[in-house]
Amino acid sequence: MGQRFDVVIVGSGAGGGTLALRLAPSGKRALLVERGGFLPRERENWDPAEVIGKARYRARIRYLDAAGEPFEPFAHHWVGGATKMYGAALLRLRESDFGAVRHHDGISPAWPLGYADFEPYYTEAERIYSVHGQRREDPCEPFASAPFPHPPLPHEPRIARLAEDFRANGLRPFPLPLGVRLPDGRGSSPVTLSLFDGFPDPTGTKADAQVCAVEPALRHDNVTLMKDALAERLVTDASGREVVALEVRRRLPDGSEATERIEGDVFVVACGAIESAALLLRSRSDAHPNGLGNRNGLVGRGYMAHQNGALLWVSRGTRNDSQLQKTLAMTDWYLRGPGSELPCGIVQLMGRSDPSDLRPLMPGVTDAGRSVEDVAAHTVDFWLTAEDLPDDDNRVSITRDGSVQVTYRRNNAEAYRRLRAALFEVLSRIEPDSQFLGYELGVGGVSHQNGTLRFGHDPDASVLDPFCRSHEVHNLYACDASFFPSCGAVNPSLTIMANALRVGDHLVERLG
Ligand SMILES: Cc1cc2nc3c(=O)[nH]c(=O)nc-3n(C[C@H](O)[C@H](O)[C@H](O)COP(=O)(O)OP(=O)(O)OC[C@H]3O[C@@H](n4cnc5c(N)ncnc54)[C@H](O)[C@@H]3O)c2cc1C
Repeated sequence: MGQRFDVVIVGSGAGGGTLALRLAPSGKRALLVERGGFLPRERENWDPAEVIGKARYRARIRYLDAAGEPFEPFAHHWVGGATKMYGAALLRLRESDFGAVRHHDGISPAWPLGYADFEPYYTEAERIYSVHGQRREDPCEPFASAPFPHPPLPHEPRIARLAEDFRANGLRPFPLPLGVRLPDGRGSSPVTLSLFDGFPDPTGTKADAQVCAVEPALRHDNVTLMKDALAERLVTDASGREVVALEVRRRLPDGSEATERIEGDVFVVACGAIESAALLLRSRSDAHPNGLGNRNGLVGRGYMAHQNGALLWVSRGTRNDSQLQKTLAMTDWYLRGPGSELPCGIVQLMGRSDPSDLRPLMPGVTDAGRSVEDVAAHTVDFWLTAEDLPDDDNRVSITRDGSVQVTYRRNNAEAYRRLRAALFEVLSRIEPDSQFLGYELGVGGVSHQNGTLRFGHDPDASVLDPFCRSHEVHNLYACDASFFPSCGAVNPSLTIMANALRVGDHLVERLG
């Protein structure tokens, strides 16, 4: 390319894409380097057999687990990053998540900044990502300086009834804040959202980072996208205090590959928590023998992924004909669980399970002769998230042969167990003869990956400073989920997006 940029951003997902949008009006020359291409808009986008069965849009990569066994992570490398597949549930962390919180397995550490520092950026991220929701319904909702930009999506009849049943049991369900870009109704047909969570959206209705951030950023001449370009290494000057170039391997239209060197004033890694850490670890040099910015050995450490799992509630007689059931959430057990002063987590509805998702779970269904299609038609699907704590032994590292290794031992499992038991108990009361299926994510479930480059004031105890700049390398930043020193239990994207806007403001000021 032979050009020099003011800012080189590696990764175009929730963090990198939103940062590019923030930098665009400044006139600064920004380059987005993305290893993926544009996710094709094709009929297979909404074909569960292709998307789930054949993992059509999954990254073709392998990591090693703690034992050195290869696994295929649930990762997606496209312009827009994992948001091309995400469920667009866009929630703010709670005020308490920014402070130290006691949990079953220890303390969730405080952030170097408070909720008030993020609040204006949350408000702006909700606007950019077109969030639909309702304030003052979520029982532990943090302070917000503005209403949601759009009203909540209405519940479909089965979900409206479920909300009533929860309320009758003393709970406070609320509309799940969702990022969707609906037409204004004048002169265009209505949109029925259906395959949404876990599927790409060829209509661009889902508020993902490509449609909400990358595309608007690219309308500015000073923003350039280099897709199909894998960042391999960051190169510093001899002092090690400044990055001078990024080396990328590019896939060219004729199928060949070429390595290029990109120069810039500021470099931002936004590859997702695992790949950002891996990029810094791969960039070791004489000045940084343990990896870039890794004097204290913390790069890659404190990996978190949330404790995520599905609880599928199978009714014997009540059908669920919802197209988009993902409109309800509950935080009644977020700050403290039933029978405990300690937090549990959040319950929300997810995309509907397809018969092909349910087939492997069918041995759990005890009604003789019930078909998988009948089970699917009577299932309501809950997604449960509890916080995991940053353990330095949970980490991303690079093996001698250059493979990425993800060592993860689940912790704070008691929070998840209690959350699941509490929901199970209420649902069993609502319909006593219902059945339950479910699963929990293992090490391959990297969709909520975060941590690995934690931010903080103390250069001995963190990788990044409060502006998400490396403590050691003056012009190196991280702007994805890697900066989390602890992760709360809400879905991470809105916080990543808000932080990208915050870091963007800092960069605009820095670059003058
Ligand atoms: C099925 C699914 C459902 C989800 N649902 C939700 C939800 O409802 N709400 C929510 O908040 N979150 C959800 N998430 C999680 C959310 O998508 C992620 O938390 C978020 O996208 C992470 O943002 P990021 O910027 O850290 O990384 P990403 O968005 O993944 O972006 C990283 C980008 O970097 C690129 N990249 C990586 N390595 C390199 C390299 N070496 N060189 C160049 N480019 C590179 C990748 O291709 C990618 O585009 C979901 C995720 C999945 C998979």
